[in-house]
Amino acid sequence: MDAIRWTRHDHDHIAAVTRLVMVSAMLAAAGLALRAQAPAPVTAIRAGRLLDPEAGRFLTNQIILVEANRITAVGPAVAVPAGAQVIDLTNLTVMPGLVDSHNHLALTYKPEPENNFYYYTYVQESTALRAIEAASNGIQMLAAGFTVVRDLGNNGNYADSALRQAIEQGWLPGPTLINSGIIIGGMGGQFFPTPEMAKEHSIVYPEYLDADTPDEITKAVRQNILFGAKVIKICVDCKPYGYTADEIRLFIREAAKAGMKVAGHVQTPAGARNAIDAGIWSIEHGTALNDELHKQMAAKGIWRAGTETPPTLAGHPVSAQAYERTIAGLRNAYDNKVPIVFSTDADYFVAGKTRGEVVLEFLKPWKDAGIPNADILRAMTISGYKVADIDKVRGPIKPGMFADLIAVPGDPLADIDVLKRVQFVMKDGVVFKQGGVMTPEKFFHGGPVNGWRIR
Ligand SMILES: [Zn+2]
Repeated sequence: MDAIRWTRHDHDHIAAVTRLVMVSAMLAAAGLALRAQAPAPVTAIRAGRLLDPEAGRFLTNQIILVEANRITAVGPAVAVPAGAQVIDLTNLTVMPGLVDSHNHLALTYKPEPENNFYYYTYVQESTALRAIEAASNGIQMLAAGFTVVRDLGNNGNYADSALRQAIEQGWLPGPTLINSGIIIGGMGGQFFPTPEMAKEHSIVYPEYLDADTPDEITKAVRQNILFGAKVIKICVDCKPYGYTADEIRLFIREAAKAGMKVAGHVQTPAGARNAIDAGIWSIEHGTALNDELHKQMAAKGIWRAGTETPPTLAGHPVSAQAYERTIAGLRNAYDNKVPIVFSTDADYFVAGKTRGEVVLEFLKPWKDAGIPNADILRAMTISGYKVADIDKVRGPIKPGMFADLIAVPGDPLADIDVLKRVQFVMKDGVVFKQGGVMTPEKFFHGGPVNGWRIR
């Protein structure tokens, strides 16, 4: 290579060009800064009562300032800036958005035609159709006041990731989704495929990812991370060859590389013991949990997403004995101070009800278990944000948090059923529902307005 001989002139020239480039860059940066400083839209919400679920009490006559998608101030004497849009909720109780910590938005099984046997739903409905169902179910959840949903699998070939991306990119409204991608389990997952199905891996799959060995566990976790999961969901004991505590620890380590937690479907006491020993993040379903296991969960701070089903949903009967066990289990968990969250598994069609209305029917077991309303509200808000692992940025109505909030008539501390009459919903600083009517037009865009890189 020829040596380059620099002259004094070259140096001056380069210095001049460098100065020019630097000045241009500074001007460009200044332009960007000016644009960034253009005032974000400011909304001032006048709240007659503001529920603080952590303290279990109301603050009265509060003003909540929202700039762009964040809460910037909360208090009784907050100055409302000139030009702010004022929303008058003085006759309502304002509170943080609700969380369903266990749902499946891209699954809707039905009394007809599949007799609630959701194995057939997977056979009958494409992932594409189920993604559209999920988009609709998400809107129905948001309308009912649910601003966060943990969406734990059985969503076909990543319909859950697609919906999360579409919501975050800005195509349509929906809750914040903490989605799991495909449930990982030992061969067969929750189902009993025929040898033909299992060998071809085409019908019951993609509902489950087979992972029977340490290598397969690692690979399955990585596949879900790659395809947009935000939590790892495993079948702890769906088969007699369920996971050992060591295998669950491997899931936890691999998920932790991506900052993710592991949620475990548990249906036997032995499986629960392995999950607890391994220090799993959350146990899904309460049926296998007993007093001893609850005490261990409380000691380790393991979340209980019990998915307690009410007996009153048309077309979806629950026996009296099963319901009594459900209530007793929830009560035992509460008495043992297990961290409990509101979780439903409400993944089916009930004639005459939206997905959000079905989910709110799941308040009944909490009432029947005698859980105080203040604690039901904590399970549906504060604890929900924590199990979703988003409580540092989203949920509480405090400065710096994303502006997700709802308003209900009456007093939810005295009557929890007022949650069934959500009048107002704001998501990410944008009004989604007002006066009891959905007003979602500001959420719909013809492109990824928040950025196509959101994956
Ligand atoms: Zn489920």
